[in-house]
Amino acid sequence: MAGGLDKETLEAILDALKQFAERRLSPETVLELDARDEVPVDVLREMCGPDLGIHLLFIPEEFHGMGGDATDVYRLCEQLARIDLGVATGLLATFLGSDPIAFGGTPEQRAQWLTRIADEGLLFAYGATEPQAGSDLGALKSTATRVEEDGTIVAYVLNGRKQWISNGGIADVYTFLANAPGGPSWFVIEKGAQGLGSGKAEDKHGIRASNTAAVWCEDVRVGADRLVGGVEGQGLLQAQLVFGYTRLMVAAFGLGAGWAALDRAIPFALDRVQGGAPLSEKQGYTHKLIVPHAARLEAARAFIEETAVRLETAPEGTLNTEGAIAKYLATEAGNAAAEASIQALGGYGYTREYVVEKIKRDVRITMIYEGTSEIMEMTISRDRWQQHIKTRGAYYHEQARTLETLAARRPGVGAETAALALHALAEVLERARTARLTRNQHVLLRLGELMAYAESAGSLAQRADRAAAGTLGPKADTRFDAATLAALSRIFAREAALKVATEGTRLVCGGDGVPDAELAAFEAKIGFAAVHRAQRGLLTDMDHVADVLFGRVGTALRQSA
Ligand SMILES: Cc1cc2nc3c(=O)[nH]c(=O)nc-3n(C[C@H](O)[C@H](O)[C@H](O)COP(=O)(O)OP(=O)(O)OC[C@H]3O[C@@H](n4cnc5c(N)ncnc54)[C@H](O)[C@@H]3O)c2cc1C
Repeated sequence: MAGGLDKETLEAILDALKQFAERRLSPETVLELDARDEVPVDVLREMCGPDLGIHLLFIPEEFHGMGGDATDVYRLCEQLARIDLGVATGLLATFLGSDPIAFGGTPEQRAQWLTRIADEGLLFAYGATEPQAGSDLGALKSTATRVEEDGTIVAYVLNGRKQWISNGGIADVYTFLANAPGGPSWFVIEKGAQGLGSGKAEDKHGIRASNTAAVWCEDVRVGADRLVGGVEGQGLLQAQLVFGYTRLMVAAFGLGAGWAALDRAIPFALDRVQGGAPLSEKQGYTHKLIVPHAARLEAARAFIEETAVRLETAPEGTLNTEGAIAKYLATEAGNAAAEASIQALGGYGYTREYVVEKIKRDVRITMIYEGTSEIMEMTISRDRWQQHIKTRGAYYHEQARTLETLAARRPGVGAETAALALHALAEVLERARTARLTRNQHVLLRLGELMAYAESAGSLAQRADRAAAGTLGPKADTRFDAATLAALSRIFAREAALKVATEGTRLVCGGDGVPDAELAAFEAKIGFAAVHRAQRGLLTDMDHVADVLFGRVGTALRQSA
C-alpha cells in the first residue's frame, strides 16, 4: 500500500466517480432501484470496467492496480457511500472477499487473483458468516476435507452453508471459510463450481441495491492451490489481519452516508419557512438536528484519517482497535445523523422522494456488518483495558498530558477539554479495576463507548491543531476551515468530557463501586467542576458552526422563537 496516489490523481478519480454517478446513479435512479429492490449488476461491472476502473485503487501497482493507500480508500469509500450504500457494498464485497488473499495468500495466489480482479473486474463474495456463526466466527460448521494421493494433499472437498453474503448470488469468485483438519481456513471457489449454490436475494430493510444471499457448498472440490496461504488453520488470523483496514472502509461508509443525509437537510432548512423565518435560523432546530451531528461526524473523520495514515506504516494486524473505534464512531454518528435528517425534513423526510429515509435505512447496516457495534465496543474495551492494567493506570492520563501540552501551545482547539475527558476516563477505569466491575459485561462494553468518545475528542483536537498550522495531509478532507474545525472540536470535546464524567460515574456507582463516604473524593478526581466549566462557550461555538453550514459566516444567528 505504501505511497498511494498523489492528491491530483485522487481528486481526478473522485471527480470521475461523481460524473459517472450523475449519469448512471442519479438520486432518481437509486430511488427506483431501491423501490424495485433491484441490484444494478451492470453498473457495478461498469464501475470495475475499463472506463471508470474504480476497483484499481484497491489493488497494488504490481498487480495492474493503482496502489491506493488507506487514505485514498477512505476518501473513495466516503464518496461511494454518498452515492448509494448498496452499490458501495457490492464493491466492498470484492475487497473483503479478496483481502484474505491480498494479506494472507501465497505470492502466486496474490499475483493470480489480484491481477485478475484488476484486469477482468471480477466480483468477489466473502463467505464467513454462517446461520449459527455470526459475531462468533469460531463456531463455524463448514468443513474442508482433504483429498490425498500418495500421501500428498491434492484437493479439498468443501461442505457448509453461509448466511447473509454480499454478492452471494452474483459473484464471479467466492472466498469461503471452512474448518480444515488444521483449523479454519479460506478457500477460493469460482462461480460454476459443481455443488456451489446460492439462495434467493434477501428482502432487506436497506441497501436494496446490494445482493445479499445465502451460499452453500455441497461436496465442492477445489484444488489444493485454492487453500489461501497454502497452510491450514490460518483463516481467522487472516481475517483478523485486515480488520483495521476493512473496518476503516465501513467507517467511511458511515461518514459518507451521514453527511449525505445532513447535506440534504441543510438546503431544505434554508428554504423551508416556518414561524416566520427559514428553519436554518431556528436555533432549536439547528443546534439539535444538525450541528451536533456535524461535530460527531467530524470527530469520526479525524479518527479515520489518523488511522488511515498510521495504517501505511503499521505492521499488519496491529490497528484492529483503531479500526474498531473508527467504525463504531462513524457508523453510529452516520446513523444518528440520518435519523436526525428525517426529523429535520419533517413530513417530507418521512417520504421516499426526499431520499433521507432511504439513507437512514441504508446506513443502518454499517452498525451490523463487519462486526456489530457491540462487538466493536468489546474489541475496544478489552484492548484498552489491558493497556490500562499494563501501564498501571497511566495509559489515558498520558494521552491527556499530550493534549495538555498541545493546549498550552495552541489554546482553543478543544485539546484542554479532550484532556479532561481522558483524565476522567482513566479515573473511571481505575475505579472499575479496584471494584472489579468489568466482570459485568455491561460495564465493559459501555466503557468501550466512553473510550471511543474520549480518544476521538483527542484526535479531532489534534486535527484542528494541524489545520491551524496548515499541516493537514495533502489528501485530507478540507470542507471546514481551521476556525470551524476548532469550533467543531470544542463542541465534541465538551460532549465527550461530560459523557465520560457522567456516564462513567453512573457505571461505577451503578456497580456499587463507590461507597457514599468516598463519593465526593471520587467526583473531585473525575474533575466534574472542570468538565462543567468547560461547557462555557458551547452556544457561541454552535452558532458559529451553524453559520458556516448555512452559509452565513460573519453574521450572527438570529434567535427567532
Ligand atoms: C446486508 C448484510 C450483508 C452482509 N454481508 C456479509 C458478507 O459479505 N460476508 C459475511 O461473511 N457476512 C456478511 N454479513 C453478516 C454480518 O457480518 C453479520 O450479520 C454480523 O457479523 C452479525 O452476526 P449475526 O447476524 O449472526 O448476529 P449475532 O452475532 O447473532 O448478533 C446478534 C446481536 O447480539 C449481539 N451480540 C453478539 N455476540 C455478543 C456478545 N458476545 N456479547 C454481547 N452481544 C453480542 C450483536 O451485537 C447483535 O446485536 C452481512 C449481513 C447483512 C445483514
